[in-house]
Amino acid sequence: MQNKLGNPKETIEILNKYHFVFQKKYGQNFLIDTHVLDKIIKAAEVTKDDMVLEIGPGIGTLTQYLCEAAREVIAVEIDKSLIPILEDTLSTYDNVTVMNEDILKVDINKLVQEKNNGKPVKIVANLPYYITTPIIMGLFEAHVPIENITVMVQKEVADRMQSGPGTKDYGALSLAVQYYAKPYIAANVPPNCFMPRPNVGSAVIRLTLHNDSPVKVKDERLLFRIIRESFNQRRKTLVNGLNNGAEVKLPKETIAEAISELKVSPTIRGEALTLEQFGRLSDIIYDKIHG
Ligand code: SAM
Repeated sequence: MQNKLGNPKETIEILNKYHFVFQKKYGQNFLIDTHVLDKIIKAAEVTKDDMVLEIGPGIGTLTQYLCEAAREVIAVEIDKSLIPILEDTLSTYDNVTVMNEDILKVDINKLVQEKNNGKPVKIVANLPYYITTPIIMGLFEAHVPIENITVMVQKEVADRMQSGPGTKDYGALSLAVQYYAKPYIAANVPPNCFMPRPNVGSAVIRLTLHNDSPVKVKDERLLFRIIRESFNQRRKTLVNGLNNGAEVKLPKETIAEAISELKVSPTIRGEALTLEQFGRLSDIIYDKIHG
């Protein structure tokens, strides 16, 4: 039986036992710090009632912690050379299913329907950093039933997720995340907590999904097109940003009119608008498009 993972010694032992070769393209940085692992479980508020979906279990370090805290764990790992290792490190747990899949290709709604009768799950992961945004936005946009998402991400990305208007980190990602969830940074994590060490600082962020979105719009996709366009040309005024882009096909005067109906300065930049103001602007533009 494999010992409990979470420190450098056990990690090196299991990697050597299976002659594991790290694949840089998969963003493989395994956790080797028990304090950080405890913090992730605590931040995610995992209980024996929960089904947890883990993205990228690696050698199963965080998975072991999840198996002990949760009722059931589903772990999706892309790297097939990790599957025999996971069979070994998770052999003592009967509440875990490992799937050898690319998470971006899994129909997570279907999975949650099948495995948890469509009831909300918790997502917990030390994410592969190269696909943090597509994973999180994919979960939100597919409206997967989720209670919270607790993930290790690049520190800089965590900062962007929880920033508000007027700060340098505020952008399309902040607005998208805050439209769906309430962010909370639970811990900052230095590179020496991973093997191999990443080149960037990391943070654990919990995103608690809103039961009821604080901003309701007539067309969610239009809202996000407007947001993207406003930040594509960050240094431009909102009216020029929206006029130059391809997303909002309205004459410049109509866009200016929409912004004036919002009762903000005609020379305002997108980075000064709150989520609520973007929501109102989206509905004003929707009405102008649809007469
Ligand atoms: N959870 C482990 C830990 O904390 O030690 C490993 C985390 S490591 C940062 C990211 C993991 O995600 C790796 O095991 C990697 O192979 C896996 N991964 C990368 N891309 C993936 C994808 N598209 N779908 C599923 N897993 C993926």
